[in-house]
Amino acid sequence: MHPSPDLLLNTADIELWPAHLLRARGNRDARALSRARYVLRRKCDGRFLAADLPEGLLPLVPRLRAEPGIDAALDWLDSTLQSRVHRAIALDAAMQVLPLDRLADRLDALGLDADAYADRSGLVLVPEPAALAFAGFDRYRRPLWLHPHAARAWTGMRDAAHRDDVVLEAISGYRSHDYQLGIFERKRARGLSVEDILTVNAAPGYSEHHGGRALDITAPGEPPAEGSFEATRAFDWLTANAGDFGFVMSYPRDNRHGIVYEPWHWQWHAAPAD
Ligand SMILES: [Zn+2]
Repeated sequence: MHPSPDLLLNTADIELWPAHLLRARGNRDARALSRARYVLRRKCDGRFLAADLPEGLLPLVPRLRAEPGIDAALDWLDSTLQSRVHRAIALDAAMQVLPLDRLADRLDALGLDADAYADRSGLVLVPEPAALAFAGFDRYRRPLWLHPHAARAWTGMRDAAHRDDVVLEAISGYRSHDYQLGIFERKRARGLSVEDILTVNAAPGYSEHHGGRALDITAPGEPPAEGSFEATRAFDWLTANAGDFGFVMSYPRDNRHGIVYEPWHWQWHAAPAD
């Protein structure tokens, strides 16, 4: 029934979600989702665009064919569903990344000088993977998406911690460029300047979360993304063991990027040699 139930297929404008991992927003969506394999979702606002039903595509918006990026999304879906080795192909594709060409215009629209920002922060552009693997649910019961290798490393690390009586909770994994742009747009609408926002959020395109290799970790009862996490057993455990699973804390105190200390933010780099 679900040929690749645990892969999020990614394109520039549209994400293709395994339907069973999405929550319906209305009766019509619920009926469509209950029979769908994949659901096409607009990245900039999360709107459901179409459901892929066994008998064909069910549009969930008017003028689906005029939707930006629809052809690329349907091509990706077809090549995944029609191939007998769809999973291998999709996993292979997850090693591919989406082009960065449209990001520059959007940073311009924000009034952000990308070159100056990159120079100042030492951060690099992080492309999005073409597919992401389901890595379980986060603290809020939302699907956690990560690069397939990072997903395996995370679940292995979480289970190892559990065997040591330490519970690690994920707060946030993969986030798209559009998602990060949305954060900036909402904060600007509340009157914050881009410079203000950059003191706590990486510019769209420059967050390690875009690559699906970074995740924010916390412990039960801890507030999300707070410095107090460093006083937990979970943090002690990570400090001693995360390296064995390929995870490194990206932003220690006084890091060269000028980013505030983030004891909760860890990125998978590579499996350690074994
Ligand atoms: Zn983070």
